[in-house]
Amino acid sequence: AGALKVKEQFHNVLKTKGLTNEINIIETGCMGPCDYGPVIVIYPEGVFYKKVTPDDVEEIVNEHFLKGRPVKRLMLQDEEDKTFLTQKEIPFYQKQVKVALANCGYIDPESIEEYIATGGYEALGTVLTTLTPQQTIDIIKKSGLRGRGGGGFPTYLKWQMVHDNPVEEKYFICNGDEGDPGAFMDRSLLEGDPHRVLEGMMIAAYATGAQNGYFYIRAEYPLAIKRIKMAIEKAKETGLLGKNIFGSEFSFEAEVRTGAGAFVCGEETALIQSIEGQRGNPTPKPPYPAVQGLYKKPTVVNNVETLGNIATIILKGADWFASMGTETSKGTKVFALTGDIRNTGLVEVPMGITLRELIFDVGGGMIGDHKFKAVQLGGPSGGCLTTQHLDVPIDYESLKERGAMMGSGGVIVMNEEKCMVNVAKFFMDFCVDESCGKCSPCKIGLKQMLEILKRIDSGYGKEGDIEELQHLGETISKISLCGLGQTAPNPVLSTIRYFRDEYEAHIRDKS
Ligand code: SF4
Repeated sequence: AGALKVKEQFHNVLKTKGLTNEINIIETGCMGPCDYGPVIVIYPEGVFYKKVTPDDVEEIVNEHFLKGRPVKRLMLQDEEDKTFLTQKEIPFYQKQVKVALANCGYIDPESIEEYIATGGYEALGTVLTTLTPQQTIDIIKKSGLRGRGGGGFPTYLKWQMVHDNPVEEKYFICNGDEGDPGAFMDRSLLEGDPHRVLEGMMIAAYATGAQNGYFYIRAEYPLAIKRIKMAIEKAKETGLLGKNIFGSEFSFEAEVRTGAGAFVCGEETALIQSIEGQRGNPTPKPPYPAVQGLYKKPTVVNNVETLGNIATIILKGADWFASMGTETSKGTKVFALTGDIRNTGLVEVPMGITLRELIFDVGGGMIGDHKFKAVQLGGPSGGCLTTQHLDVPIDYESLKERGAMMGSGGVIVMNEEKCMVNVAKFFMDFCVDESCGKCSPCKIGLKQMLEILKRIDSGYGKEGDIEELQHLGETISKISLCGLGQTAPNPVLSTIRYFRDEYEAHIRDKS
């Protein structure tokens, strides 16, 4: 978006004016609101400048830094009383609660000192010096944390299974193979606060008894890969990673493995195959990775955001974390908001917030005079919800009951101009492309569904097509080998459930 040029210009102007010792320029990770970028926040006042270009820099330095007069034309205004807003007053941030993203957009992700200055590695120290592995697992159990990668499996259960396994050699994997269209939560966290994810992994490794950890990150995320590698190196140099950490018996090594662009490698068994150097094909479960995972040893696979919560739960306590959210879904959730809304971006909100609040309060509502029509949650494995669901609380169960799912957190908002048959076709096309071809229901069935969708979309649909799509979708969901095939029909089934009239109109109008 041009942020690096703005940064360079700041360096130039501050140097010319002799201010380099007075003012620190810190490059941070994502601050959240994509539509306002490049963003600059001036501390300590918290003045928020949007869409800054290199041409604005001289004015900011002369007016704000030297004369103490903020440059109002670059600030956001309250829509009603027209006052100029500081960062914390901006509506986009009002309903957000940042736990995993607490440091994103605030500290320099390449500086271990800045991470430590915000309390980083304190949780690891606490765990290693005062808690047993079982006590650590008990805290995570009490917090109610569930896996943020999509399935919502209780985090402590995976840890407990590996902890209880008497095999000595154990592994820990952080799944950063985020491939859903419209999703960038894991990427932003890895880029914006890599030490937090590393610390979460180390605490989890101590709790489970793992000696080695892998960050599996997709190759399309070079900055995330660079920053997590840097975090590992810095932690090693500082003695926070390696042998006898904090003088304890705990020793741990971590490394990065790069995904090669296959969506299916986000599925944990395929991911394990890929790390082992084999073709990334899913394998049947059981055996689950917790029993027989990487190199056939007990392995925990946790998502990036899940690990991003761990240190704060240890420091602030399980009760604090469990006080946010709903009965069954505790804490907060990070979402990537995209589509036809005003404030696209990266957000973190308490579980239980309604779709209406997420889309209209945090997201700022629809662009222009358009009306809200549907929201696709959870990417290609998720489903479409509509106006009647705007007051549904966002939690694992409520979404599933209505044919959608939390997924990893991709949220695509659509206005009334979007054709739902076309949307379903887009996601099906994606899944057909990404199917590994190992099992027939997914390999052949999804292709059949795509052909029918194409037929309907181009005006050649025929009677019985909708029922055929439903029949195929339900069958494929039941008998596919892995999560990709099991969930790929969701966008089609949910759009038929809530927008059947559009499918019928496509078929009817051609005749
Ligand atoms: Fe491969 Fe699809 Fe079968 Fe999964 S469901 S194993 S992606 S063919």
